Amino acid sequence: MTLQTTLMPALFVGHGSPMNAIEETSYAAAWRDAAASIPRPAAILCISAHWETEGTFVTAMERPKTIHDFYGFPDELYRVQYPAPGSPELAGRVRELVGTTAVRPDDGYSWGLDHGAWSVLRRMYPAADIPVVQLSLDRTQHPRFHYDLGAELGTLRREGVLIVGSGNIVHNLRLLQWDASRPYPWADEFDRQAAELILAEEHDRLVAYPALGEAARLAIPTNEHYLPLLYTLAVRQPGEPVSFFAEGLPLSSISMRSVRIG
Ligand code: ZN
Repeated sequence: MTLQTTLMPALFVGHGSPMNAIEETSYAAAWRDAAASIPRPAAILCISAHWETEGTFVTAMERPKTIHDFYGFPDELYRVQYPAPGSPELAGRVRELVGTTAVRPDDGYSWGLDHGAWSVLRRMYPAADIPVVQLSLDRTQHPRFHYDLGAELGTLRREGVLIVGSGNIVHNLRLLQWDASRPYPWADEFDRQAAELILAEEHDRLVAYPALGEAARLAIPTNEHYLPLLYTLAVRQPGEPVSFFAEGLPLSSISMRSVRIG
């Protein structure tokens, strides 16, 4: 990896429905625009809500497969392939940087690229010509563990690596309303509160989200879609710019808010 003096931005993308991969939504356009506004990465490290494991893993194969990890969607979506190469080199670098925990390589093709990664990256880099590595979420760990692990990966930003957390700040599938015209008040409340805390760099409060109250509890019934945000926030340098490149609360209980650091 080449050392750069500039820091690659880091992103958190609210991915929402996998249909954003094939439908021309405003979110798909926002992701495309976000990619166009940053330097071309040497490689991408994606922390997706959809890869939960016991222990932390990193994909380390040359050719990650496209995983269609959803049910009940149109055939067209199952035909999508995102043939980006992997990067055993970046996987090795991740394992080297993380001193606090053993990150195990997944080189046996048990994983690949799940839709949390490819539904977003297909919009950002449609040519699929930038190597992509995924880091899993250790489901046995507390939010603080995830934030601290993310912080250890910050150095990659100086090596041309784009860090992409992919999840949703508000994600309550049980309370989805398909015909809804407006978000639940609690979804709107937590989305705004999270935005304020992100801008104010109040990371400790975001890590300790259960203490934020009832709206947080409803927004984060399970935390796998929230945790990727913590990885992205953790690589922010003090005082570094932070902005939102997508916002919205479709289906009443999903936040599409997407964050750019740098
Ligand atoms: Zn998801």
